[in-house]
Amino acid sequence: MTANSKDDSNLSLSTDYRPLELEKEVREFWEKNQIRDQLEQREKDAKGVLGYVEGPPTLNGIPHIGHARGRVMKDIRYRWKTMQGYYMPFWAGWDCQGLPVELEVEKLLGVKNKRELLERVGEERFIEECKKVILKYHKLWVEADRLLGIFINQKKAYWTYLDTYIEREWQYLKHAWDQNLLEEGHYVVAYCPGCQTSLSSAEVGYEGSYKDVEDPSLYFKFKKAGTPNEFFLVWTTMPFTIITDTMLAVKPDAEYVKVKVDNELWIMVKQRVEAVMQELGITKYTVTETTQGKNLEGTKYDYPLKDIIPAQAELETQHELVHTVIGEDFVDVNTATGVVHLSPGNGEEDFWAAQKRGVPVFAPYDDEVKFTRDAGVFNGVFARDADYLVVEELRNRNAFVAVKKVTHEYPTCWRSHHKLVWLARKEYFLRTDKINSKVLEAAEKIQYYFDEPKNRFIAFLKEGKPWCISRERVWGTPLPMWTCQKCGAKRLIASKKELTENALEQVPENFELHKPWVDRVTLKCPKCGGVMHREDYVLDTWHNSGASPYARFTDPEYARFVPTDFLTEGIDQTRGWANSLLLEHVILTGKPEAPYHAFLFQGLTQDAKGRKMSKSLGNILETSKLLGKYSADLCRFYMMRKCSPIDFMNFDLQELNRRPYQVLSTLYHLSRFFLQNAEFDNFNPAKFTLERATQKKQLKDTDRWLLSKLQGKMEEYTAKLERSEFNFAVAILEDFVIDTLSRLYVPMIRKELWTDDPETFERRQTIYAVLHYTLKTVTLLSNPVTPYLSEALYQKIYKKLNPTLPASVNLEPWPVPDSSMRDKNIEEEFDILFTSVSLAYAARQQAKLKRRWPLSKIIVVAPKKTTQALKNQEPLFLEMVNVKTAEYAPQVPEYVGGENWVSASEGNMYVFVSGQRDDKLLGEGLMRDLARRGQALRKDLGFVPTDVLDAVHIAELDEDSKRLLEPFLEEMAELVRTKKVYLHDSRNEVEAEWHESKLDGKRVYLNIH
Ligand SMILES: [Zn+2]
Ligand SMILES: [Zn+2]
Repeated sequence: MTANSKDDSNLSLSTDYRPLELEKEVREFWEKNQIRDQLEQREKDAKGVLGYVEGPPTLNGIPHIGHARGRVMKDIRYRWKTMQGYYMPFWAGWDCQGLPVELEVEKLLGVKNKRELLERVGEERFIEECKKVILKYHKLWVEADRLLGIFINQKKAYWTYLDTYIEREWQYLKHAWDQNLLEEGHYVVAYCPGCQTSLSSAEVGYEGSYKDVEDPSLYFKFKKAGTPNEFFLVWTTMPFTIITDTMLAVKPDAEYVKVKVDNELWIMVKQRVEAVMQELGITKYTVTETTQGKNLEGTKYDYPLKDIIPAQAELETQHELVHTVIGEDFVDVNTATGVVHLSPGNGEEDFWAAQKRGVPVFAPYDDEVKFTRDAGVFNGVFARDADYLVVEELRNRNAFVAVKKVTHEYPTCWRSHHKLVWLARKEYFLRTDKINSKVLEAAEKIQYYFDEPKNRFIAFLKEGKPWCISRERVWGTPLPMWTCQKCGAKRLIASKKELTENALEQVPENFELHKPWVDRVTLKCPKCGGVMHREDYVLDTWHNSGASPYARFTDPEYARFVPTDFLTEGIDQTRGWANSLLLEHVILTGKPEAPYHAFLFQGLTQDAKGRKMSKSLGNILETSKLLGKYSADLCRFYMMRKCSPIDFMNFDLQELNRRPYQVLSTLYHLSRFFLQNAEFDNFNPAKFTLERATQKKQLKDTDRWLLSKLQGKMEEYTAKLERSEFNFAVAILEDFVIDTLSRLYVPMIRKELWTDDPETFERRQTIYAVLHYTLKTVTLLSNPVTPYLSEALYQKIYKKLNPTLPASVNLEPWPVPDSSMRDKNIEEEFDILFTSVSLAYAARQQAKLKRRWPLSKIIVVAPKKTTQALKNQEPLFLEMVNVKTAEYAPQVPEYVGGENWVSASEGNMYVFVSGQRDDKLLGEGLMRDLARRGQALRKDLGFVPTDVLDAVHIAELDEDSKRLLEPFLEEMAELVRTKKVYLHDSRNEVEAEWHESKLDGKRVYLNIH
């Protein structure tokens, strides 16, 4: 590499494209020359600022290829916008706290649950272990970023567990508190018995959290009070909730009946009688007495388990509606019996039904979701383990009807996969439901690039549920709420300073804003002078990371960088970071505004067979391991090219070395081809510029066509990047490199470079100027996608030819199209040209006439516009089709036809080629065949393409061939880049190493030196 380097070996391009070696070299170059830091220093000269906040990866696992895909999208934007002249604070960030980290540490420590953790390990040591774990994973992430070529600034990373960050996170809560959006209350929340904490409703809805589980399907009956044989028939899949049963509910406007079974009367909704009886296998029954649901309201029932749950008997004395039928519209009469039992301690709707009637909530659970002493004989039993115990107790009391097993979808914990339990608990909530209209207004203003993820996000936001932010865990941002033991007054603390200044006792030196230290701080109640203790909660980790726009910056930085320009994360962040960022920002600012202008939700990455990558399947591709064996550029190119960023991508290692390798290798070899020829002719890009060539009118149509194409591609490419259509953007590059440059342009000019004639020196310099401009532009445009290859080509070609260039390709300005080079007419002419050439090839193929063999005549029958275009480009046309003369006609000439002519057509264009060859054409064709072999032999023997060799010897051609070939020997010498060609009857005539070759079935021998 050039900068500060005198080692010339680094300046050469190896014969083959070997990405792994090249990437190592480039990485060292970047690091040694601090290229990333140089970009950071360009802030002053930037033409504008684009805000950015890193979506912080959680430091609880090893980075894999799915992470890599998202990180490449971020890096693309950074490199490209930086080249456009913008400054972007592309600074890293790490999500350090929360349940995922705690669970990882619990696993390492071999603890099973929170109680064991607190007893055996203790909070202080646990927190130290959490910090160790995040540092361990941090190293792995930084290394993966390094290998992948992610230009994120690691030095300016934010860490969500630091006091400075937490203090600023508290500011969000202060704003919520001041606006009465932060509330404490009993609510029914989803609770994970494994993690021993509540979950937010967002977490409950995570992809994949609903699993098929087996539960009891129980029909049971509660006796109507004061009757000998009348019962309410009820159904549940959670028999344990009968322990907390408080009321029954019916739908007021539905029709209910009594069903006579044996000598009992069962009360249920009319429309379900037949189905339920069938399910229960009861054939003999009669239906009597129809009545409206509302007539059942107020009916008492005998709760059957009072004898073993004394607290249930106690409840009846507390409120008259306990163990009474109520009417509720939410009762679904299309399933089960239309009579539902309500457990306000276990169900959200049940809870609200009790709340509005003032009925007490009975929730006798501890933190492990085991029943407490209040649950009588069930004391100490885990809720879900009580299911069959309850069934047995009902059976003993003539309250049992039937039980089966049912498999149904039920939410499980996204982390630990335990079945969730709904429980009434005291929690802290952000009343985001109250600001829902502002949130939705903000969400509508965001750019999402694609409709599907947008609709999904907005539909989720519309749910607008309160956000349960309290977690009963350890390693998290402490909820900064202190409550007076005496009068219940609450105080929210918003900074470390405020806390230490108001503490009742001196705060120790090693104090940090974490449990257990922060729990030890007590305050004096401003109302009654009593002692205030902190509420023993930490915050939802999504609140932690969602605070990043404010918490990761200083005030002036926040003012400059937020709202940010663009963020991108996985589609799973719809309910995660994208949501928490938005909610918190609306709370902080009070405005209907998101902290980001645009959000690209990425599809997830799966294995080659389309399966989710998971530890259990063992199909996770770890980034660093993968990049030890495979090129980062190839991975980057492949991941961006294969599908749209919002698609789920099946990552198949087999595909890396196919098309992606072909494309990058082609760019590499084209660049190398240019350099070799340019160096041979001492090309100086500062002297032989495109401007000079234009002024001197040295550009041929081929050049003007290429330059025009490039302007269009440049524009399209940038537009696709702007729309986050990375796959289409990369396809444009691919197409340009493979088709336009390699397949079309280079073959058209190759022959012109195949000479060192001083007379064509200027022309060769012009071609170099065109190739230099074109390939350098492509190198610059590729930099966001394949930064290693771009940097290598930049250093080893462009910087080598012109040492005054910037130190890195990343410091180059983004290429912009030059309209003066755009020429639509010439592009159209060349389109016609290429179509007619491929028709001529197709025609030749029918008669097995090789493309190398010159033919006498081609006739193009087409409308005038088409033939005019070909006339304009006739020399090039004849050369490409390898035919001596062309004729153009509006109709097929009469003399055309018969076996001497072959033809092909497309649309209204017909091409006829004469297949007749005289001695001259045969001789030239033979010469071309042999020249081709000579060229291949040169290459095989390792001669540099630009060297002019001494001689080609050809032996053992038959007499006829020799006669035909004789007149073309000089031309052949030129084509093979040798001084002279000699023909020999026998190999014995010259002492030489002969190489055997076959020509139309006959042996021929070549020597070259
Ligand atoms: Zn869990
Ligand atoms: Zn007080």
